[in-house]
Amino acid sequence: MQGATTKETQRPQCSFCRKSPSGEMVAGPGVYICDACVGLCQRILTGKPTAAFASWQSMTDEELLDALPAAEAAVHATAEKLHEHVDMLRARNVSWERIATALGVSRQAAWERFSREN
Ligand SMILES: [Zn+2]
Repeated sequence: MQGATTKETQRPQCSFCRKSPSGEMVAGPGVYICDACVGLCQRILTGKPTAAFASWQSMTDEELLDALPAAEAAVHATAEKLHEHVDMLRARNVSWERIATALGVSRQAAWERFSREN
């Protein structure tokens, strides 16, 4: 789904603002970004002033707790995309040794983490 846009079906959550807006979203590997956040990025990248980010310190305990499930879901989605990435390399017969080197771990660690055989 990399590079794809999505409009309806299961409304994904923007990985940046955690909202599920009705407009277009751009999907990357395990992440989505809404048009509002793209607009914010454009402002930042062109040096225009932006509203201050509501830091974690300014959030209440309830707000932080409410955001926790979405953060965990994003971690799981990203981990699954990482597995699919490794699956693609294995389907191309790229060795566990090369995958491990790219990840900076031992061959055994890479195999134990990503092999669908174990
Ligand atoms: Zn957003």
